[in-house]
Amino acid sequence: MRLGIPCQPPDRSMTAATPQTVEQLIRLGYEVVVQHGAGAPAQFPDAAYEEAGAELADRAETWGCNVVVTAYAPDDAELDLMHPGATLIGRLDPARHPELVQSLQDRSLTALAIDTVPRISRAQSMDVLSSQANLAGYRAVIEAAAHFGRLLNGQVTAAGKFPPASVYVIGAGVAGLAAIGTAYSLGAVVKGTDVRPEVADQVKSVGAEFVPVPTAQEVSDDGYAKEMSADQAALANALYAEQSAAADIVITTANIPGRRAPLLLDRAAVEAMRPGSVIVDMAAANGGNTELTVPGEVVTTPGGVTIVGYTDLAERLPAQASQLYGRNILNLLTLVTPDKDGNLALDLDDQVVRAITVCQAGELLWPPPPVAVS
Ligand code: NAD
Repeated sequence: MRLGIPCQPPDRSMTAATPQTVEQLIRLGYEVVVQHGAGAPAQFPDAAYEEAGAELADRAETWGCNVVVTAYAPDDAELDLMHPGATLIGRLDPARHPELVQSLQDRSLTALAIDTVPRISRAQSMDVLSSQANLAGYRAVIEAAAHFGRLLNGQVTAAGKFPPASVYVIGAGVAGLAAIGTAYSLGAVVKGTDVRPEVADQVKSVGAEFVPVPTAQEVSDDGYAKEMSADQAALANALYAEQSAAADIVITTANIPGRRAPLLLDRAAVEAMRPGSVIVDMAAANGGNTELTVPGEVVTTPGGVTIVGYTDLAERLPAQASQLYGRNILNLLTLVTPDKDGNLALDLDDQVVRAITVCQAGELLWPPPPVAVS
């Protein structure tokens, strides 16, 4: 089969295949077709893809392949270039994009949403949410440090001394743990909180003090946090406000799958923070963890608190975001190309394949049955 790698939208930088993964996709039996310039924003030139064995092509030819792999959800104009029965693989986030699911059905396409891979051990090598969250957690600290404008580590010099910056991370999932580890390695004094008390050891292992939430929250059987009751949330938010007022940098990462991100810091809590302090709201794309977050923007309150609401933190490391994403895609294609003959074979009895198959030749298969975490 011909497998196409189109260009990303003009304002985005990640690509779905690197020259290295192209070589491996060819070994799986695919004829790989890369649109001219597809890797340029992530620093992979056309010549490197050609050297790896890819054919360079225009937009229509790339979207006209049997399998098209993207890093972003495509629009209708792009889907119109696909042939009925062709397969789209990408970060499709079907739960939040019902209109895209409808467009896929209308065009009799098969679609695999790699961002719905279940969080089970066997699927870890395809887990794009984890690989991107890890990069985003690192980048959140770099953004915070740049906007903070002061050292993160403590220093004693002949000319004076500075204390280390204090960093408070709310939510210790993949992104939160990466942020804690990065802030600690830059010399900050770090605290971390999560509603899931079982993450305390992980928080400590990457260098932070664990601050427990006053009410232990149940974890649902998929391993994620559940939404809190209003009373629980009020207790927890009082703790977040108190800890944030004492911090130089706050990084919020709290998410509840399929829901708006929980509101952790209201206007009063932000206004109680010191002038010059910085919040990086990693849940900005999902509604935001603070009342004052503006998705995609950096805002500074009249009281001098800067809130970074970037929704593309991982993509601000475009080469590595593409390398990890390309590797997740390769691992997925290895699973669904069992004979290494360049032909997709979707085994819907496999719980990973079933979980990511949104529709097959236009037949709606979303949402899939739930998968228990292992
Ligand atoms: P996420 O992005 O959904 O949420 C980030 C963190 O926010 C979570 O730790 C969550 O507990 C926390 N949170 C939610 N509401 C909060 C609140 N009100 N206050 C404070 N914290 C709050 O999480 P994630 O990083 O995607 O990971 C979620 C779970 O999945 C974790 O248990 C993680 O270990 C697990 N996981 C498993 C695998 C696997 O392959 N087995 C892979 C990745 C993640």
